[in-house]
Amino acid sequence: MAGKKAFITGISGQDGSYLTEFLLDKGYEVAGLVRRNALAELGNIEKFKEEVRIYFGDLQFPESIVLALYDFKPDEIYNLASLSSPLSSFSDKFASIMVTGVGALHVFERAKQIVPDAKIYQASTSEMFGAPKQVPQNEDTPLSPANPYAAAKEYAHRMAVIARQDKNQPQFIACGILFNHESPRRGLNFVTRKISAAVACIKNGRKEGIPLNEMGEPIVKNGKLKLGDLNAKRDWGYAPDYIEAMYKIMQQKIADDFVVATGEVHTVEDFAKEAFEVVDLNYNDYVETDPHFVPPIQTGPLHGDASKAKKVLGWEPKTKFSDLVRIMVHADLAKFS
Ligand code: NAP
Repeated sequence: MAGKKAFITGISGQDGSYLTEFLLDKGYEVAGLVRRNALAELGNIEKFKEEVRIYFGDLQFPESIVLALYDFKPDEIYNLASLSSPLSSFSDKFASIMVTGVGALHVFERAKQIVPDAKIYQASTSEMFGAPKQVPQNEDTPLSPANPYAAAKEYAHRMAVIARQDKNQPQFIACGILFNHESPRRGLNFVTRKISAAVACIKNGRKEGIPLNEMGEPIVKNGKLKLGDLNAKRDWGYAPDYIEAMYKIMQQKIADDFVVATGEVHTVEDFAKEAFEVVDLNYNDYVETDPHFVPPIQTGPLHGDASKAKKVLGWEPKTKFSDLVRIMVHADLAKFS
C-alpha cells in the first residue's frame, strides 16, 4: 500500500536487500539499520542506496535503534539483523546471544515505547529445531537448538511470543520460521554459495581473487573445494520467494508463527553434484571433505511442512531446486569471470 514505512534491520544482508526491492516496488518508504564499516560499504543495497534511508547503528547499541525509530516512525519493522552463520556461532557464542538474541529484544522493547502500533517481523529459523525427531517440521514441532546461533534465535522467538501474549500491552510480533533460502546474494560462508562460487572459479580457470572460506583459505585451493558433511540434509528455497512469505506474514490481522519451506530435501552432495553439472563437470573430481567444516553438533534433517503458510497466506515456493542451483552458478560465473 502506498505511503507505508518499513524499517529493516540487517538491510544490507541477503534478505534485507531483496525485501527492500520488494517493498520499494510496492510503494513503501524504506529505511534500514547498517553497521558502519571502515569502507562505508553498503553490501547488497549499494545499488539502491539513493532510494532508502540509512541509519548507521548496531543491535548491540540500542541507542541507535531508538534514534532511528524516533526519526523514521515506521509502520512495519523487519528484524533481520543477526550473526547468521550456525557454524561460526560456535566460536562467537557471546556475540550470538548479544546480537541475535538480546538485540532482537532491544528492537521489540524500543518499538513498544516509540512506535507501539508498528507491526514487527522476527526472522526465526528452522535451525531452532536442532536434530528433530519429527520430520517434516511444522509450527508445533518442539524446539531443540543444536548451536549457539539457534539458541539465540530461540530466545528471540520466545520473547516475540511472550510480547504478543502480554495482556497489558500486546505487540504485533510475527515470526517467520524460515528454512534455508539461498541466492547469489548469500554470504560466501554458506555452503551453497561456497559451492556456486567454487564452480565458477574452477570453470573460469580463475587464479587470483578467489574468495576465502571461514578458515581464511581460498575456497578453491589446488583445484579442490573443501566441504563439511556431504550427507547433511536441508530444505533449500530461493530467497526472493521467501520475501513474499515475509510480507504476507506481516499483512495478517493477528501476529502468528509460520513455517516457510519448500518441503523438498536435498543433501549437500546433491547441491554440489547439480552445481558442477551446470558447467558439465563432475563434482567427484573437485570436492573434498574436511572435518573443520563439520559443526561439533549436527543439526537436521531439516525438512519443512509449510501447509499453514499455504492455507493461511496462500504462499507457495515458485523456484525449483535445480533452478535455484542454476541461478546461483550463472550469477557466480559472471561475478568470478
Ligand atoms: P545475512 O545475509 O547474514 O544478513 C544479516 C544482516 O545482519 C547483515 O546485514 C549484517 O550486517 C547484519 N548484522 C549483523 N550483526 C549486526 C549487528 N550487531 N547490528 C546490526 N546489524 C547486524 O542473513 P540473511 O540470509 O539475509 O538472513 C536474514 C535473517 O533471517 C537473519 O536474521 C537470519 O539469521 C535469518 N534466517 C535466514 C535464513 C536463510 O536461510 N537465509 C533462514 C532462517 C532465518 P553486516 O553486513 O554488517 O554483517
